[in-house]
Amino acid sequence: MQDVEFEVFKTKSEEGQYKKFDLTDSAQRKEYFEYKAGPEIAKLKEYLKDNTFIVYLLGKKSSGKGTYAKMLKEIVAPDKIEHLSIGDMIRSFDEVLRDPAKKEELIEFLKQKYRGPTPLQDIIKAMEERSTKVLLPSELILALTEREITRMGKKAIFLDGFPRDLDQVSYSLFFKNLIDYRQDPDVFVMIDVPTNIIDQRVKTRVICPLCNTSRSLKLLPTKKVEYDKADKKFHLICDNPACTGARMVTKEGDENGIEPIRARLEKDEVLMGQVYKMHGISKVFLRNSIPVNLTKEYADDYEVTPEFSYDWNEKEGKVDVAEQPWEVKDDEGNKSNSLMPPPVVVSLIKQLVAVLGI
Ligand SMILES: [Zn+2]
Repeated sequence: MQDVEFEVFKTKSEEGQYKKFDLTDSAQRKEYFEYKAGPEIAKLKEYLKDNTFIVYLLGKKSSGKGTYAKMLKEIVAPDKIEHLSIGDMIRSFDEVLRDPAKKEELIEFLKQKYRGPTPLQDIIKAMEERSTKVLLPSELILALTEREITRMGKKAIFLDGFPRDLDQVSYSLFFKNLIDYRQDPDVFVMIDVPTNIIDQRVKTRVICPLCNTSRSLKLLPTKKVEYDKADKKFHLICDNPACTGARMVTKEGDENGIEPIRARLEKDEVLMGQVYKMHGISKVFLRNSIPVNLTKEYADDYEVTPEFSYDWNEKEGKVDVAEQPWEVKDDEGNKSNSLMPPPVVVSLIKQLVAVLGI
């Protein structure tokens, strides 16, 4: 990221303490967290018995904000932590507005809580028509977020998607007062992911048409890969135990990578630069890439994202799978490795414990 240098966080095992985990397996992932951050997880659990905090997740679109927050929640305290995605919340109003009773309730709430430059009836109309011409004002987002958090009860919150615009940075500095969390710590968690990583993730992403599970042929395959002699391509078969298993497909538009969201990514970068300059609020810095010359010193081999490649073995009638550490250029053009989500979450847990002073 421009102007801001994020330090590389060390998650490598101490000399002679190396133990290997399969980070794609949920049981082993749990053991891994215990092994790498057991004492810190215990501290957070204890803290959350009587306290909360509010985290503002900041990172470019598709930087993994939701993945990291959900993983931390699952590992630390599923019933004490909430991940609130503002984008998902806004989308959920499509359904609310189609239900006359719920719509009435929402309008009543906004009549009481919303104050802002755009007339309320114009906002409702824009939301109903899903019009992007009328931008939802920050004052409205704030009122709706407050409503959502009040409904959750008193929990630690990872806010994903707020602040989203420059004017919202100032709001975020006072947000905990608004939701009556004034004694609780608040923290900006800034995530740095090279644009190339996001681009490759989008381009190689495939989803199951039956259950919507998302994977990647290059970076996160399923256990079952098939070769299609007709199109001469390799395809993933969904292995979600709750699914009957179908050939996974590319979502329309994904082949364009980050091109359609380039303007958004640039805006996110400016936003992070702005947040970085704020004083008086704790900040945690996460990065999911390591320059290749530092990888061996900072991370264990299995913490690095592998790149998968395939070969059709005609003789045995099966697909041969090979993997090697994925190398990708970061925004400065340096060759980097990408980290799997769990080591990034280890860094989040340890830094969070430090800024909370527990
Ligand atoms: Zn499926």
